[in-house]
Amino acid sequence: MTTRAKAILKEVFGYDEFRPLQREIIGHVLQKQDTLVVMPTGGGKSLCYQLPALIFEGLTVVVSPLISLMKDQVAQLQQLGVAAVFLNSSLAFDEYQRNLSRVRRGEAKLLYVAPETLLKAKTLDLLASLKVDCLAIDEAHCISEWGHDFRPEYRQIVACRPRFPEAVCVALTATATQRVRDDIRQTLHFTTSQQFVASFNRDNLFLRVAPKTAALSQTLEFLQQYPEQSGIIYCFSRKQVDELAEALKQHGHTVRPYHAGLSDEERTQNQEAFIRDDIRIIVATIAFGMGINKSNVRFVIHYDLPKNLESYYQEIGRAGRDGLRSHCLLLLGYGDISKIRYFIDQKSGQERQVASHHLNVMLGYAESQSCRRVPLLAYFGEAFTQTPCKMCDNCLAGQKELVELTIPAQKFLSCVARTGERFGATHIIDVLRGSQSEKVLKNGHGNLSTYGIGKEFSKAQWLHLSRQFLQEGLLEKELEYGGLKLTPKADAVLRGREKFFGTVQVEQTDYAAEKEESLEFDRELFELLRKLRKSLADAQNVPPYVVFADKTLTEMATYFPQSRTSLGRVHGVGEAKLEKYGTAFLLEISRYCRERGLQEKTRPAKNASVLSPLPTSNSPITPKSQIIAGEFNAGKSIAALASQFKVAPRTILEHLFKCAANGQALRAEGLLEYSKVDPTQRAKVLEAFGKLGGNFLKPVFDALHGEVSYDELHVLRLYHLSLKNRGGGDAGK
Ligand code: ADP
Ligand code: ZN
Repeated sequence: MTTRAKAILKEVFGYDEFRPLQREIIGHVLQKQDTLVVMPTGGGKSLCYQLPALIFEGLTVVVSPLISLMKDQVAQLQQLGVAAVFLNSSLAFDEYQRNLSRVRRGEAKLLYVAPETLLKAKTLDLLASLKVDCLAIDEAHCISEWGHDFRPEYRQIVACRPRFPEAVCVALTATATQRVRDDIRQTLHFTTSQQFVASFNRDNLFLRVAPKTAALSQTLEFLQQYPEQSGIIYCFSRKQVDELAEALKQHGHTVRPYHAGLSDEERTQNQEAFIRDDIRIIVATIAFGMGINKSNVRFVIHYDLPKNLESYYQEIGRAGRDGLRSHCLLLLGYGDISKIRYFIDQKSGQERQVASHHLNVMLGYAESQSCRRVPLLAYFGEAFTQTPCKMCDNCLAGQKELVELTIPAQKFLSCVARTGERFGATHIIDVLRGSQSEKVLKNGHGNLSTYGIGKEFSKAQWLHLSRQFLQEGLLEKELEYGGLKLTPKADAVLRGREKFFGTVQVEQTDYAAEKEESLEFDRELFELLRKLRKSLADAQNVPPYVVFADKTLTEMATYFPQSRTSLGRVHGVGEAKLEKYGTAFLLEISRYCRERGLQEKTRPAKNASVLSPLPTSNSPITPKSQIIAGEFNAGKSIAALASQFKVAPRTILEHLFKCAANGQALRAEGLLEYSKVDPTQRAKVLEAFGKLGGNFLKPVFDALHGEVSYDELHVLRLYHLSLKNRGGGDAGK
């Protein structure tokens, strides 16, 4: 079954490998075991029911709450040549009826429905007359009242499940919180053993936080790095959205706003323009993104501080769904923090505590001096240990050196003392920097000895320092009004008994200096292919990424495939797309290469065992190979040799192969010990080697319809060879 799944993965979807957990989940689903899939956005959840749907005999019903997502998924499946249809209230009567009859006639493999459509008596009756093999519940957090998007109809779906007794249920969600996951499981009566939780680390997202100094010019500078690429900029308020969108437009960017103040129609139009690559930037409030499947979002900028770490994670998650490197920039403005603090202070009781907690967690991430993935994933209960991650600003910069800052600390602390331990950080900084503000002068703080003694740092730098003083316990914040108070530890620093170490924030981030290495591909060809993709997409009225993902075009512009076979090897090129678009893309690539004298390059296969160069009989036998073969023939097992030489068993097999290929006989029983297939299958494999020879494994793999793994073939090829070398006539049996 799983070999079948693997074949479909390449033939239909055009992918070489499963993403983490997909294989396990698909295996589970194919055995008709109910399954809860928890994966981050872009993790590849859809494949977990789409692929089984192609193997099941009957229909797969997919419940999805968002019409735009449904439409998008169906369009993508149709491009792959998969019979998928949807039913929801957006369809015109005719179209609705047409889709309905296709389902009735058994012509669809997947049916996408909105929950309220599924619950209609008419739909339920129709489905009762069909064989439904799988019920997939997408965005399963809608089941939970604890989730951010509770939908009562979702609970009713659970109630109508018994109507599909043969259907396995797959619930999928990107929800990160434990409480919601537990709730989904309870509602669906699933056990923990039916739950698959993928890591929430999105390793293709580059994370950066920069102090917000001149937000607009920082943004413009950032955008220069990504000419022609798509991205989202999130702002706190509608007003800010409109202003920024206007400013960017004036600088020649194609951009549209998106927020709750626009009409539904405008919002849909703007979203559609973005999805179809007609414009490249959306400036939005957090309202944007829920229904977005666009896979080629290359950057997400947070112009203002996000509400909390969970929303931030969801928002940056909209970047890089295609798995290509994408950039997430957060502009951290100290003024913004004070603004949010001010809002929080207007609240009371638990609401205030919760908001304040969210802010602190958010700042814990934004002000982190080490790998950003640690606080980000810790929030979701995941311990990230692979530091440095190489994909965040801090890891790239290396650990920030702490410097001695005792004198600035003394200046700040004595200013706190002299103003009577009643004021917040902003006021203290105003005094230190010699501000002429009314508040400073009215309080007579212009006459203090600490007035104007701190001009060496900017306001933002002082704020950053003041947070370190708080974190290090030199200061305490008085709860009621937020005034800063000195602690005994402050006294020690003031008197010079203790030193203070910390970091000073760099004023400007030089994006160019940190320019990341990216895949080397021919940008000119990429642009040509992108134009071709756009025209093919427009002609069919679908978004460009539905035709081919950016990753597919990037590979084409790297390997210059010029035959159908090599084009078929490219990521994301399955049989249907090869049929549909192969000629157009091959023509474009061939013409481009001919004009420039470029040659096709071989695309290295992901599955190393398939194409890794095999040692041939000409490869020299090294003394090490001979020692290993000697010890093996003397009775040592492959496993024992692997641990003795501290290598993988595969490496031992390779050494043995070199010897066998040069005619040396090997202890055949020792090889069989290591083989895991049953005797009937073994006989089939040996027969295939007898017929096809032992130089390549792929023909044998194919002859056995992929039922025997490459690891096993390596072992049996050796067995085959050693029998031959022994002069045994039964090598082919
Ligand atoms: P999710 O629903 O979890 O957000 P999707 O199912 O939309 O994620 O998948 C995200 C992207 O990853 C899609 O562009 C999809 O085509 C791609 N993808 C999924 N599985 C694989 C795979 N095994 N290999 C390569 N790309 C994959
Ligand atoms: Zn890192």
